[in-house]
Amino acid sequence: MIMNRRQILTLSAAAAASLVSAHPAVAVSVDLQLPILPYKEDALAPVISARTVGLHYGKHHKGYFDKLSKLIAGKPYASMTLEKIIVTAHEKKDQDIFNNAAQAWNHNLYWQQFNGGSKAPPEKFTALIKNDFGSIDTLKTKLVEQADKIFGTGWVWLVRSGGKLEVIGMQDAGNPMTLDKKPLLGIDVWEHAYYIDYENRRAEHVQAVLDKLINWEFVASRWDVTQG
Ligand code: MN
Repeated sequence: MIMNRRQILTLSAAAAASLVSAHPAVAVSVDLQLPILPYKEDALAPVISARTVGLHYGKHHKGYFDKLSKLIAGKPYASMTLEKIIVTAHEKKDQDIFNNAAQAWNHNLYWQQFNGGSKAPPEKFTALIKNDFGSIDTLKTKLVEQADKIFGTGWVWLVRSGGKLEVIGMQDAGNPMTLDKKPLLGIDVWEHAYYIDYENRRAEHVQAVLDKLINWEFVASRWDVTQG
């Protein structure tokens, strides 16, 4: 059978389309998809209501992944891990890509740190906290104060900086990896995180999250984890 040029082009396009649809998982790494919420939407109530979780996870967090996948389609970013996208987009000042990638990652950690329920830190991590802050209550106070200082939207972070624990506040989508610091715990202080449940009482909300929701065993486990 002899085909003309038009027929060959049509066949090639169809073959390419069938390849793409047959292997959708190849196109986007698991890392670039919204992770499943590891508990029910009412698991964090009353500190974070089911309504807030539904909107925050189902609309905001999902939205960052959706926007990111549109922004990176067909670009070298599409084959990178989420962490690599964050650092690279920050260096290249690709602001839209950075914002959506960082927010996707920040919320991944945010939901994970509540998984398993409120748990006290293990002894070794408590010793680190005492060494750098005096006590866990002092650390919590520092996190609350820093959260309250952020003007507008942002995140308050407990990070590993070399061999020390540090509390830092960052604006908007800020992620400590861009400062070469490892995020261990992150609290979202965008109004969408707390306004339904706490209205404008940000400090009170952050204190409640620290006292009643954080799984400090998970936070401690990140101290030694070099990836993730
Ligand atoms: Mn948020």
